[in-house]
Amino acid sequence: MTEFGLIDAIKGLCRALPTNGYEGIGDDCAVFPIDAQRALLFTADMLVERVHFLRDATSAYDLGHKSLAVNLSDIAAMGGRPTATLLSLSIPQELMGEWIEEFMRGYRDLALQHGVALIGGDTTASKGDLSINVTAIGEVELSRIKRRSAAQVGDVIFVTNELGGSAAGLNDIFSGDFDSTFATLHKRPTPRVAEGVWLSQHEAVHAMMDISDGVASDLRHILRASEVGAELELSATPRPDGVSVEQALSGGEDYELLFSASADNAEQLAHDYAAQFGHPIKIIGKIVEGNDIAWFDNGAIVERSISGFTHY
Ligand code: ADP
Ligand code: MG
Repeated sequence: MTEFGLIDAIKGLCRALPTNGYEGIGDDCAVFPIDAQRALLFTADMLVERVHFLRDATSAYDLGHKSLAVNLSDIAAMGGRPTATLLSLSIPQELMGEWIEEFMRGYRDLALQHGVALIGGDTTASKGDLSINVTAIGEVELSRIKRRSAAQVGDVIFVTNELGGSAAGLNDIFSGDFDSTFATLHKRPTPRVAEGVWLSQHEAVHAMMDISDGVASDLRHILRASEVGAELELSATPRPDGVSVEQALSGGEDYELLFSASADNAEQLAHDYAAQFGHPIKIIGKIVEGNDIAWFDNGAIVERSISGFTHY
């Protein structure tokens, strides 16, 4: 059974449960309308030692930052503004004291930067590895929510920045270089909160999500939710020097935003985004009829089997 097969099975097994007004499993966050205009967003992401990080390869401070960053990224992915988090820690004895306090400084400094409250959580001992689970809560105007299911045939597909730096950083870490520029990108991702809020204010933006598992995997979630296909141009993949196209599309953990937008407004949107944030966004392809990704290399269709990261 795969990760996403299990999530589908969980969804199926729990179909008889009440929704109680929540829009649940399947997007970056769950949505709960609080009045006619606004909704709360909820998301949870877990970081487990030896699965998501190696304790020797990261500082406690950076891990605190990353634990929060990946959750803020999911709130941003739906156009929300993060407001609060719950933090649960399962901590081996030897990390109690200075190590975990330094972790909290990393967490706190990013929370301060985004004006996010810490409102609760849980603390337990661990007999082995360190586990971190964060629940983040955000607010969004109902009419501005960007869902994975909103892509339309004819849309262009954008990413907010270069891809693959984090994957290259993971390779650096595995080869013992913990402090390269790429390794730092991997250990300290920047959640695109202001960018997500800005994009949510543009009706031309249709579907949106954050890139946690690589475009090749994450775009397929948009395609499935929207019942459409996509054509991606390999040569248009924005990536830093030293990163291959494959790495950029399958690597994951970039925490940039992936979104579709109406083709008619794409040029204006890209212009306005660059004026607002000081760097360009990039078109990597377009939404078409279908249900999967077709790959193109300089305009010619090519066979590729690029996939992203998945647990199991
Ligand atoms: P993301 O990468 O944006 O955090 P995931 O791929 O982890 O999203 O999860 C996809 C969807 O499945 C989300 O809506 C998430 O809340 C839901 N989900 C994941 N794991 C579980 C689980 N164990 N039980 C219920 N829902 C889950
Ligand atoms: Mg996400």
